[in-house]
Amino acid sequence: MQLTRALFDEVMVPNYAPSPIIPVRGLGSRLWDQQDREFIDFAGGIAVNCLGHCHPVLVNALTEQANKLWHLSNTMTNEPALALAQRLVDTTFAEKVYFANSGAEANEAALKLVRRVALNKFGAEKSQIIAFKMGFHGRTLFTVTVGGQPAYSDGFGPKPADIDHAEYNNLDSLKALISDRTCAVVLEPLQGEGGIISPSKEFIQGVRELCDQHNALLVFDEVQSGVGRTGELYAYMGLGVTPDVLTTAKALGGGFPIGAMLTTTELAKHLVVGTHGSTYGGNPLACAVALAAYDTVNTPEVLNGVKAREKLFKDALHAINAKYQVFSEVRGQGLLIGAALSTEWAGKSRDFMLAAAEQGLLVLMAGYNVVRFAPSLVIPEQDILDGMARFEAAIAKLVAARG
Ligand SMILES: *Cc1c(COP(=O)(O)O)cnc(C)c1O
Repeated sequence: MQLTRALFDEVMVPNYAPSPIIPVRGLGSRLWDQQDREFIDFAGGIAVNCLGHCHPVLVNALTEQANKLWHLSNTMTNEPALALAQRLVDTTFAEKVYFANSGAEANEAALKLVRRVALNKFGAEKSQIIAFKMGFHGRTLFTVTVGGQPAYSDGFGPKPADIDHAEYNNLDSLKALISDRTCAVVLEPLQGEGGIISPSKEFIQGVRELCDQHNALLVFDEVQSGVGRTGELYAYMGLGVTPDVLTTAKALGGGFPIGAMLTTTELAKHLVVGTHGSTYGGNPLACAVALAAYDTVNTPEVLNGVKAREKLFKDALHAINAKYQVFSEVRGQGLLIGAALSTEWAGKSRDFMLAAAEQGLLVLMAGYNVVRFAPSLVIPEQDILDGMARFEAAIAKLVAARG
């Protein structure tokens, strides 16, 4: 059997446009494709591979659990799920955990929870959910409708109702929408897919105050920003604002699919037996790997290392920009970094991604105007320097081709 990129177009639903590169193995922040070409990985599987590829601690956790027990379902609990839930409770504001298999599923649980709490406590009138333009919360019909890009949710028939969108970093815009009918406000405390947009502290604090004034719950979607990505264990910890519900996925499993919704006992009690569930949620393999990843990330060495690496990334991007003037701004926090393209290069982030891949470097886009970097949180300094040399070579070629 020829396992080629062309086969993708023959046998896969065409909802993705994958790169021509087919990696077959990885180690740390390097990947090798079918032709044994080497790539430096600044993409991290979209902020998932927080410890790079095949980190020995994760390989060990997975293989150890693989020889013990794979799956039970939720008719029984299991030790890895209990251990991971205890750790999440010990290290965050949360008192209760619900396990899912992805970011969208964690958000689906959060959205159903806030709706149920509002119904039980205040009645059916209080159902409005306010989210933000350009926000991203997943691809189920509920989560994609809460997301702030109608292009993603249009064309699938009637949408879940009573969802409104305010402008991010604009409290007046939220004030104009929020009322005692609002059941929850949902936001990313660092917008990822929307272009790497940091919230101002005043905005986040103002959102919390408005929620409190209107008995609305505050949901932080930390699917992308969580588990060390910003240099804090969770981004909320650096903002001085605690949400009522938090969702986490992507880096949580270090590459093994898992998601979780975190909340308080007071709110969790509304999801009584039978109200929600998942066959795989809390799967022993996923939870064993996630606990190993979480404990490895949640150390001062790794979290401080993220901030040191942020500086290396940003310094290198500024140096490249001093030569080629292709970026209007370098932004983001920790190792979730965006290089926004200058007006001259507007709409061309895909070209940058492809040019980088040609030089042996994997980067991401965050929309058509931003090149996104979400590498391993423990990427070696040499890989950053080598990767940036490749990125500069890619940009030099793009600029030369323009003439
Ligand atoms: C990726 C992402 C999601 C969706 O996660 P999936 O695992 O793809 O379902 C939700 N919210 C945010 C902020 C994300 O970045």
